[in-house]
Amino acid sequence: MDQSFGEKLKKWFGVERKSEYVKNYLQETNIRSAIYMSVIVIVLEIWMLQRQTKRLVDSGDPLTLQSFLYGNRNFLILLITGIIMLVFAVAYVRGYKKKRPFSIAVISIFGAVCLSFGFYVSYYDYADGKQIMAFLTMALFVGCILVWNPILSFVMLTLIFHGFYQIMERVAAAGGFQVRSGDQVNYITFWISVTTVSISLYHQRVAEAIKDENLERVNRHLHYMAVTDETTRISNIQNFMNLCREKMQDPAIDVTQWVYLFMNVENFGNYNEKYGYEAGNQILVNVAKILKDSFEDGIVARQADDHFVVFTAAENLQKLESVRSRVRGLENDVRIGMNTGSYRPTSREVDPNIACDHARTACATVRKRHDVNYREYDAVLEKQSHRKKYIINHLDQAIEKRYIRPYYQPVVFAKTRKLCGFEALARWIDPEEGFLSPGDFIPALEEYHEIYKLDRCIIESVCRDIRETLDKGLPVVPISLNFSRLDFEVPDAIDHLNRTVDRYQVPRDLIHVEITESTLSENTEKLQASCAELHKLGYALWLDDFGSGYSALNVLKDYEFDALKIDMTFLSNFSGNPKSRPLLKSVVGLADALGISTLAEGVETEEEADFLEEIGCERLQGYLYGKPMPKDGAIDIIIAGKVPVSEEYQTRN
Ligand code: C2E
Ligand code: CA
Ligand code: CA
Repeated sequence: MDQSFGEKLKKWFGVERKSEYVKNYLQETNIRSAIYMSVIVIVLEIWMLQRQTKRLVDSGDPLTLQSFLYGNRNFLILLITGIIMLVFAVAYVRGYKKKRPFSIAVISIFGAVCLSFGFYVSYYDYADGKQIMAFLTMALFVGCILVWNPILSFVMLTLIFHGFYQIMERVAAAGGFQVRSGDQVNYITFWISVTTVSISLYHQRVAEAIKDENLERVNRHLHYMAVTDETTRISNIQNFMNLCREKMQDPAIDVTQWVYLFMNVENFGNYNEKYGYEAGNQILVNVAKILKDSFEDGIVARQADDHFVVFTAAENLQKLESVRSRVRGLENDVRIGMNTGSYRPTSREVDPNIACDHARTACATVRKRHDVNYREYDAVLEKQSHRKKYIINHLDQAIEKRYIRPYYQPVVFAKTRKLCGFEALARWIDPEEGFLSPGDFIPALEEYHEIYKLDRCIIESVCRDIRETLDKGLPVVPISLNFSRLDFEVPDAIDHLNRTVDRYQVPRDLIHVEITESTLSENTEKLQASCAELHKLGYALWLDDFGSGYSALNVLKDYEFDALKIDMTFLSNFSGNPKSRPLLKSVVGLADALGISTLAEGVETEEEADFLEEIGCERLQGYLYGKPMPKDGAIDIIIAGKVPVSEEYQTRN
């Protein structure tokens, strides 16, 4: 930064605008110096007092209080000033009295007393024909240890030296002699030196102060950056955790009456997409403001993305509704809102990270729901999350130890009610957690993108089971496998299927692949290509859960399915709902028109089966023909002929 000459000059004279920091810094150094100076003065004066008193006693005159006070008046004044200065300076440094103008006055008085003393002593010394050391010492003392503004020190020192020089001349004249030229030179040299040192000391201190101030500013900024979220300017998550940790230990609060909140701005993704990043950020800033405002006694931070966390007294939960409506009020076009999950710590020892995780888990359960937008982390969630962790941590072991295996549910032809296939459904029979159904572990595995491991395990087991059955010369029916959308994220999904099928020498027409309808609504070209490839390789492709999603018809157009599995919701309340029959009829008719065969899931009564047969549905699956069962059970029903095997699968060459 270039400075004009005028500014430089102002600086040199010390009349530029100084920041509070610099002013305080200078005063602080002065006060510290004053401590040393006052100690020296006190020691010196006590010594002088003692010497002077001894002299008074030695003179033979009786020592009265009056003669003591009179004889020592200069030393006493200086001593008392020194003591006052010391007490004041110590109090100032300790932070009791931080009034700068007042402290300047105290130091000035102290300085003036010291100088007058030097002046006085030296005057008599000089008059006695002695040297001027006392004066000089005090001038050095006050002028060169304390920091004065350059103009002030120049004026002050010049006046003092000039005054004393006058006195010297007068004393000399009275004595009938002249001030010696050596003294004159020395005297002017003293004056110049003391003034220069004083001024240079000032500049040096100011430079130090500015450097210090900058350092502190940088430090403050770094600290700010370390604890603040850049977008919303509220606390960031690391700082939140630290503040919560402190708060949890605060004896003034009962932590069980406090609550962690995890909040998620609903529909924020859509808003961002529609209005762009900048506008999205503005929403986040406003949400942050609303939260800060609503939970002013609590701790509020942005966790990440559109997620916020709050630690506040539980009574503030009642504010959630108003927070939500204020957030809604930010935007009319895209319905943004607020979902909240909460967790109440049970003791001071609960880690804020874990507490936030729990609140987040609770929040996730209300995410895509329209009826509720708040949930507390309760015993049910606690159990679920424990299980989720268990599942993720034990998947590999469960696969390795074959705790995970396929159960088989029979599929029959509607016309003959004879067995024409099985659907392989995963079961996890765990020594610790017991019997787990897909509903228990599939959501967790999908969330952690580990589902492909499970499906690979099922593929392997199914192929192994088919091989064994073939080797025993028993009839074998096609088995359908469930594929998750996420299976196709793994690059060699289809290759892996092929390799496994080939390794066990299983004919490909014995394997069907089921893909859920909702999977396909998130259509990607890649998925379409994968389906086409499966089809080309000779695996029958079945569309699972038809009718449970929204985009059913498009899907039929875009993919080549061999069969369509009508979701079991069509059969729920079959006899009670008059709409069931015409609906089923039109679905089967539609599939027929497209040349796709149909399978109805969830068939539980003969009435349903008869109706489905009548409308031309080809296959049936449901508890009526058997629940999912272990491999041996499936083989048993084949051997025992409980569900006779359809003729075409009786023998296999
Ligand atoms: P899904 O493919 O629709 O499987 C049918 C589900 O309905 C099975 O539940 C089955 O036990 C049940 N079910 C069958 N017949 C009836 C009936 O008559 N009445 C009633 N109320 N239910 C019946 P499950 O075995 O719990 O499987 C649930 C879902 O988990 C499956 O739905 C499938 O989407 C998924 N899944 C199961 N195994 C696997 C697997 O190995 N891999 C993948 N990716 N998903 C699987
Ligand atoms: Ca299925
Ligand atoms: Ca299904």
